[in-house]
Amino acid sequence: MKKVIIAGAGHAGLVLASKLPASEFDVLIIEKNSRENLGHDWEDRFTFELLESVTGKSINDFPDNSWRYRGDSAFISPSKRTSVPVTYSENDKQKVMWRKPLINMLITSAEKAGARFIYNTDITGPIIAEGRVTGIKTDKEEYYADIVVDCAGVFSPVRSNLPEEYMIERNPGRGDLFYAWRAYFDKCSDINPELPFEVYMYHEREQGLSWCCTNENSVDILIGRIDKLTDEKVNEQIAIFRENHPWIGSSIINGGSYGYIPVRRPLSVMVADGYAAAGDSAFMTMPMNGMGIDLSIKAGIILSEVLAENIDKDYTADVLWEYNRRFHTECGAEASKNEGLKNAILSLPYEGVDFLFENGIIQSSDLAGAGKKTSFISLLGKLKRGLKKPKYLFAILSGIIKGSKNAGVYKNPPAVYNKEKIVQWKDQIEKNIVKIL
Ligand SMILES: Cc1cc2nc3c(=O)[nH]c(=O)nc-3n(C[C@H](O)[C@H](O)[C@H](O)COP(=O)(O)OP(=O)(O)OC[C@H]3O[C@@H](n4cnc5c(N)ncnc54)[C@H](O)[C@@H]3O)c2cc1C
Repeated sequence: MKKVIIAGAGHAGLVLASKLPASEFDVLIIEKNSRENLGHDWEDRFTFELLESVTGKSINDFPDNSWRYRGDSAFISPSKRTSVPVTYSENDKQKVMWRKPLINMLITSAEKAGARFIYNTDITGPIIAEGRVTGIKTDKEEYYADIVVDCAGVFSPVRSNLPEEYMIERNPGRGDLFYAWRAYFDKCSDINPELPFEVYMYHEREQGLSWCCTNENSVDILIGRIDKLTDEKVNEQIAIFRENHPWIGSSIINGGSYGYIPVRRPLSVMVADGYAAAGDSAFMTMPMNGMGIDLSIKAGIILSEVLAENIDKDYTADVLWEYNRRFHTECGAEASKNEGLKNAILSLPYEGVDFLFENGIIQSSDLAGAGKKTSFISLLGKLKRGLKKPKYLFAILSGIIKGSKNAGVYKNPPAVYNKEKIVQWKDQIEKNIVKIL
């Protein structure tokens, strides 16, 4: 019987717990929140089929009122002079689900598979013995296992206290995170714009974006920046939204809190002897739009397969490298690709972003694919228009090229856990990173 500790009831850990049979694995999930307080009070977009495959439930069995279709979008330039519509066909419409029912479905699956939960317990760091992670420290007691799976989010106290020789990045740098505040306000008049989901790039000319999504009975506001937000900043931005959205009411009916989203390439190395990171603790999101649920679910599935295939082995870094390698070839390469473009856009002055919008260099197809569909070829077609301001165009082009190069590096990690080869591989990644100015 293998003992598995999952640090934090994150999506990847819950999926992993759902997939490990109780006959072979003793799974313990340790979470700082109470079960009732788990999960943000807002809706997320993700691939529903993945949730269906993990829980074995069809969309028709999802709890009542837990999900809906989101309306079409308009992306608005910093000067607000240009708006690019992004519309979806009937088959392609974006679905969103409330976070709490999503987490509840995953917890039920994990419980059914035999996982045990300890709530209201704050993890403070890893326990390391003879160079290996052997357990975790909490505010109550210590817990030991054959493997600690770190699903404790962006600021995981496990990851950030690992020894340097593991070669695992312990803390995010500037531009790696998106600081967000989100709330649903009531509506004080029955107005329903044709493109209800308005996304303001470089909102009020600051690095980041904000959105205002008018729903049937509420207005979902998100303020996001790459630097820390303050209450004063959030209130100022809401007041600006109210000027041209007079239907935003005064009561917050859901949310009203801060969150942090990794918007960077995933951790290159995410395993060590007795340790694996998954989800936000391994920065597994799509950098352009911060979507992390799909990647977390996929990471949970891959890790469950690697742990099951190696049930008779010690969970050393050598063995767990297969998870690291598979995640990057199957998901990490694609996720790392659009970091270059995102950072290049965020490094432009706001008038540079305006120029891209006003000259058709940022188009509906680029935005619908969150940068994934922005190929080098498609950009060449925009070259002529872009050459009016070559410095902006070349900055974007360079971001795309560096992102593509990094995708290639992520696609080809060392075949085995060899420290020398890993250092060389990490150096290649480092060279292609576009730093935000
Ligand atoms: C405003 C906002 C909107 C988002 N929208 C989307 C979206 O539409 N689609 C999408 O795919 N993604 C979205 N994301 C990103 C998504 O939330 C994450 O990528 C996803 O939740 C994966 O994170 P996780 O489960 O790994 O970590 P988390 O959701 O952060 O879970 C970590 C868990 O660990 C627990 N924990 C943390 N520290 C400790 C500790 N010390 N001790 C014990 N437990 C601990 C936490 O309580 C939590 O339960 C959004 C994020 C934000 C902030």
